[in-house]
Amino acid sequence: MMKTGMVKTKQRELIIAAVQGSRTHPTADEVFQSIRAQLPTISLATVYRNLGILSEQGVIRKIEIPDGRDRFDCCLADHDHFLCRSCGRLWDFQLAHPLVELIPPETGFQVQDYALVVRGTCRECAAASPGAEGSS
Ligand SMILES: [Zn+2]
Ligand SMILES: [Zn+2]
Repeated sequence: MMKTGMVKTKQRELIIAAVQGSRTHPTADEVFQSIRAQLPTISLATVYRNLGILSEQGVIRKIEIPDGRDRFDCCLADHDHFLCRSCGRLWDFQLAHPLVELIPPETGFQVQDYALVVRGTCRECAAASPGAEGSS
């Protein structure tokens, strides 16, 4: 019984480390792939479950992607995300003005949190794709 608890702790540590060790906001599947070598007995379902628990606990942050798979972020500070449709990478960025300040005060909305995922083509992909500047 003691052992089960230790295995669970170990699993969780590896999952946190996998999210922290990636700057690309990994999916549950990518976390699973990256820790499988160290923990061959772990299942994808276990990774999913632990990622859910950790994001509920506020240890990591879950980013829901419309029409896509959830991504996980170790950076809990306020920031927003840009999803590149070409390479699939999720980039961090900071809005020039906090979004909540753009909500008209007359709405009376009291904002608790929000999630913003902007989609398009990242700078690297735009630079790599010919015709992006209208030359085609
Ligand atoms: Zn890209
Ligand atoms: Zn992020």
